[in-house]
Parts: sequence; structure tokens; C-alpha cells
Amino acid sequence: MYRSDTIVACATPPGRGAIAVVRLSGPQATAILQALFRPTHARRITPWTLMHGTAVDPQDGSAIDEVLAVRMPGPKSYTGEDVCEIQAHGSPVVVEAILDAALRAGARAAERGEFTRRAVINGRIDLLQAEAIADLIDARVHAGAQLAWSQLQGALSDQLAALRHLVKRVLVEIEANIDFSDDELPCENLPARIETLDTAAAGVAVLLEGFVTARRYREGFRTVLVGRPNVGKSSLVNALLGRGRMIVSDEPGTTRDSVEETVDLGGTAFVLTDTAGVRATESTAEREAVARTREIAANADILLVILDGSQPLTDEDRELCLCRPDAADATRLFVVNKSDLPSRLTEHDEQCVAGLSAEGEAAVRLSAKSGEGCAELVVAMKQAARAAVDGRAPAGLSRARHRSALTRVAAGLVRARRTAAADGEPELCALELRDVLRELAAISTPMDNDEILEAIFGEFCIGK
Ligand code: GDP
Repeated sequence: MYRSDTIVACATPPGRGAIAVVRLSGPQATAILQALFRPTHARRITPWTLMHGTAVDPQDGSAIDEVLAVRMPGPKSYTGEDVCEIQAHGSPVVVEAILDAALRAGARAAERGEFTRRAVINGRIDLLQAEAIADLIDARVHAGAQLAWSQLQGALSDQLAALRHLVKRVLVEIEANIDFSDDELPCENLPARIETLDTAAAGVAVLLEGFVTARRYREGFRTVLVGRPNVGKSSLVNALLGRGRMIVSDEPGTTRDSVEETVDLGGTAFVLTDTAGVRATESTAEREAVARTREIAANADILLVILDGSQPLTDEDRELCLCRPDAADATRLFVVNKSDLPSRLTEHDEQCVAGLSAEGEAAVRLSAKSGEGCAELVVAMKQAARAAVDGRAPAGLSRARHRSALTRVAAGLVRARRTAAADGEPELCALELRDVLRELAAISTPMDNDEILEAIFGEFCIGK
């Protein structure tokens, strides 16, 4: 799988810009740089020094561009190998010429994420840190970048190492007992062992709890708008997009019949899901559309129930008011739209809205058309977001891969504890604990699993 050849790629985004960086990594990196870079003021290329010079064609010596180059010898480079970088003018034509020259001088075009993959293989970083680099690059808001940064610094790797340490301690003891103990005697270390396993299980639980928090930081708070047709859901989405910085997302929406837009409202990302597409058609009964809307609403972190204040409430309105998100920490907010028009809510409707918003669920009156009241809604949404992550550590697992492995770890720990508590079959307990250790190790270093590695590095860009 791992090839010890020298790879090359442009590390900056494609297109025109002030500069472009071409990166080389591998045993021939220095030789290739020597072949295509002529320093202006020196004979030799000094390591760790940015040098001015000319990029040249290795065959005929003709100049390609005026550049800066740096040589970073392994093992203290990004990949752990010799790495060289050339900063050229940000022209696709120049980049193409330098890449072509490097290929002719013996380099191979890098695959997606191959530089980072080499960093992992060479032990410069673990897989969690590699994922953190991808997350940092993809971060949509500051909070997401902070989370990725702490993971890159090894916060999560350290937490997993601490868990491994606890489990290993119990395993070593049990195995020592299997080898040396007198079977007739009850184990005197049993309570301490159980306590250690409980501590490990609690640590796993905290990490699993942090998964949702991490997802919210990474992707944004899922904010679902429900309401019957024409109450102004799409208009409100547009009004909210107009108040924040729109985050362009190339990920396809998770539901076919709803539209998703991600917006940064003062540092917090919200994924706005407009269920306007969930409509009763001739082939689907009204009830089915409401059921589908409820299904989408169930996944919300923040549910916005939109009502039209310029009309009396209908049965459908009242039915949609019963939608609730599944998560206990999710918030429901009621929006009475079209406040620029005279209110036609009946007294009973007003009581109904007041009743719904009595349990801490705010009701905001606004006009999606004029924008009046939208600022209050943004404040309420940010409060709901804060409440949803309240008291939970922002650092945590951020991927489904981490969560499924840790779920297996949690189950393994429960089984191991049960066997340990029975103090009957130490071999069985040891077997469980060894599995737990394997699972924990695989989260940061699944080196024997090509499929996982392909999936992770396939997400990276070329040159990373
Ligand atoms: P949706 O079906 O819930 O997505 O509703 P739309 O956003 O498509 O809006 C339905 C109609 O209501 C459109 O004609 C909008 O212009 C109008 N509308 C939406 N919000 C307001 C508002 O705040 N005030 C007024 N007067 N009209 C609105």
C-alpha cells in the first residue's frame, strides 16, 4: 500500500491567485528541487530557509517563473519525509509547467490526501489528527475550527489514550491472576477493578454524549421550519439568510423533499431546513405530508413552528404545533409571521400560542417580508443553540466512525464488567477487554484496515 516514491501536487486551490504552492514529498524531493530550482544568492539549498530563485525546466534549463523555495528535511516535516515547497505566481499555466517539470524529474502525481496519509503512516500524527486537519479545512464557523484545532492538538487522542490505560490496567491484573492465582481464593482486587471499569465506561459515555455537540459545532444546528403552505417558511429562510453569512455547502441535503441552507449567524452555524417541499399531492393524503414533516422535525436541534398571524389558525396549524423534536435538549420556537398585516388571530388562537410558549418556548412575532422582528428570532435561536450544548465539552468525537467504535467499546465494557463482577471466568473477561482495547486503538490507528483509510483520505483534496 505504502510506496516510498516521491509525490508532487499543487497544495493551493486551483485557479488564479497571488501565489500557488507546489509541494513535493519523498526520498527524491531534494534531488528534484535541485533539478528545477536555481537559487539567486547561494550555490546550495539550505534547509528550513525560504530561498529566492528561478524555477527552471530540468531538461533545457529554461526559466519557468521567479519563485521562493524551501526544503524541509524529514523526519520533522509535515509528512515525516523530505518535503520541498515551491511558491510560484498563482497562475495555472505556471503551476502546470512546474508540476510537469517535477514529473519529468522523477516525481509521481499525488493522490487525494496522500501527503497527510504519509504523515499518519510515518507516525507524525494519528488518524484522529488527520481527520482534524480535514475538519479544520472544511470548518464552516469559528466554533467548528476551534473544535478541529483542539483535536489536532491531540485532545481526543489523549482522552482515548487515558481510556486505553485504564482498560489495560485491569487486563494486566486479570491476566496475571489467570497465570498465578489460586483458583479457590476470591479476588481481593475485585472492587478496585470494577471501579476502574466503571470509570472507563463513564469516560466513554462522556465522549459519546459529546458526539452530538461536536456535530452541532461542525455542521451547524439543525433548524427545521414547519408550517402549512403559504405561512412564509421560504420567505423566513430568505430573511435569515439575508441576516447572516451564507455558507456554501456542496453536501447534498439529507432529505429529498426539503431544502437545506447553512447560515452563520454571528459565529454559530444553523442548517436551515425548509419543509415547504413537503406538500400533500393527489397521490399522498394530507396526513402523509404532515407525517413526513414530523419525521424531519424529529431530527431538529431547533424547531421553528411558523404560523400566519394574518389568518385565523387552522386545524393543520394546530396539528403542526404538536410536532416535537426527539432530542431532550432541542428547543421549539413559535413564529407568528406576517406582523406587517393586521392580526386575524382569534382570542382563542392567541391563548393557544400563549399556552404553547408558556413552557419556556418563545413565540416571536415578525414579518419575514419587512424583516421586522427577525433580529429577535436570531437572538432566540442563538439562545436555543447555547442551551443545547450547555455544559458539554465542545471537544469530542465528530464522526460516525468514532461513534460506532465507541458504542462497541461501551457494550464491551458492560460485558467485561458483568463477567468481572461474577469473578468466575477471568479468561472471558480478558477476552472482552482485549477486544475493547483493539476497538479503542482502531479509532486513532486503524492501520490494518485499508477500507477505512481509503474512506478517510478520499475526503481530502489533492495536495493535502
Ligand atoms: P411557504 O409556502 O410557507 O414557504 O410560504 P412563502 O414564503 O412562499 O410565502 C407565501 C406567501 O406569503 C408569499 O406570497 C409571500 O410573499 C407571503 N409572505 C411571506 N411572509 C410574509 C410577511 O411577513 N408579510 C406578508 N405580507 N407576506 C408574506
